[in-house]
Amino acid sequence: MRLEEISFRFDTAPTLAGVSLKVPAGAFVSILGPSGCGKTTLVKIVAGYLKPLAGRVLLHDTDITNVPPGKRNTGMVFQNLALFPHLSARGNVAFGLEARGLPSSEIHQRVEAMLDQVGLKPDERNRQPGNLSGGQQQRVALARALVIQPSLLMLDEPLSNLDSHLRDQMRGLIRQVQRDTGVTTMMVTHDPEEAMAMSDLIAVMNQGTIVEVGTGRDLYQRPRSAFVARFLGLANIVDGSVIGHRPGSSLLVRPECLVINGEGVPFAGIGKVINSEFFGADVLVTVVLGNTQVLVRGRPNIMPQPGTEVRVSAMPGTIHELPADGES
Ligand code: ATP
Repeated sequence: MRLEEISFRFDTAPTLAGVSLKVPAGAFVSILGPSGCGKTTLVKIVAGYLKPLAGRVLLHDTDITNVPPGKRNTGMVFQNLALFPHLSARGNVAFGLEARGLPSSEIHQRVEAMLDQVGLKPDERNRQPGNLSGGQQQRVALARALVIQPSLLMLDEPLSNLDSHLRDQMRGLIRQVQRDTGVTTMMVTHDPEEAMAMSDLIAVMNQGTIVEVGTGRDLYQRPRSAFVARFLGLANIVDGSVIGHRPGSSLLVRPECLVINGEGVPFAGIGKVINSEFFGADVLVTVVLGNTQVLVRGRPNIMPQPGTEVRVSAMPGTIHELPADGES
C-alpha cells in the first residue's frame, strides 16, 4: 500500500499536509501520534470514507483514490468496534460474505474457521454483541474484518477501550492472526508501547505530517528529533555533542541506560535525588544536577531516598546524538 502526498482539510487549517508512506506487503505498520494529529483522518482516507484534496492511495500499485469504500477490499476494525447489535457474533462475521453473495456452505465454513482463529468459543458464537464481553466483541470485530480476506486491514485504536490485562492478551492475538493471514495492516494508535510491541514499522505523525518512519527499536534508540524521542518514551535530553562532532546538538539517553552509583561512562555527574517512584518491576529516580533533572530507571532493590547524593553514569554506547536539524 502506498500513500502519495495526501492532503486534506476540514476547515481552513490543513489536517493532513503532503503525507506519503509506503507499507510493504504483509507488514504491520502503526501510525503513531498525539491526539488530533490526523491519524484517524488518514485511515478514513485510506478506507475511502473521506476523499483527499490532493494525493493518491495505491493498493498493489492500483490507484484506489476514487474507488468507493465497499469496493476497496479493505477490512476495518473501528475504535468503538461498530458491531451490528441485532446480529449474533456469527451473523456479524458472515455479513460481508453474504453481501458478496457467496454460497451458504462456503460462508459457514469460512465464518467458523475465522472464529476458531480469533479464539471465540462455540457457545459464544450465537450471542449478540451486547451479551459478549469487551474482549469477545474485539475478537468478533477482528474476525469480521478478516473473513473477507482483505488486501489491507485497518485498525483504529483497537485496544483503547480494553483494560490493561485484556489489552496485553489482544495485542498478542492481533499480531498472531496478522502473521498467520499475512494481511498488510495499518494500525492507528497513540500508545508508543503498543506500536513498538506490535509493528514492523512505525510512522510517527505530528500536526498533519509524518515526521519519521522506522522500526520501533530505531525510533526509540536513535530518533532523529526530540519530538520523536519524547513521544516514544521517557527521555533525558541534554545540550551537548559528541567530541569531534558539530556543536549545538543535543544528547539523548533513556532512563534505563543510566546507572546510579555504578560502572559506566560519566554522564551527569553527582547530584541529589528529589523523587523515587516504585513500579514493581523497576523504580524511577529523579536526580537534580545543577539546573538539570535526569530520570534514572533502576532495579527495585536500589531505591535511593530523596535527599541522597548519588553519582549518575551512562552505560557504554547508549548516548545518542540527536541530529542538529531535528525539530524539538
Ligand atoms: P485522536 O487520537 O484524538 O483520535 P487523531 O490523530 O486521530 O486524534 P483526527 O481525528 O484525524 O486526529 O483529527 C485531526 C484534526 O481534524 C483534529 O484537529 C480534529 O479536531 C479535526 N477534525 C476531525 N474530524 C473533524 C470533522 N468532522 N470536522 C472538523 N474537524 C475535524
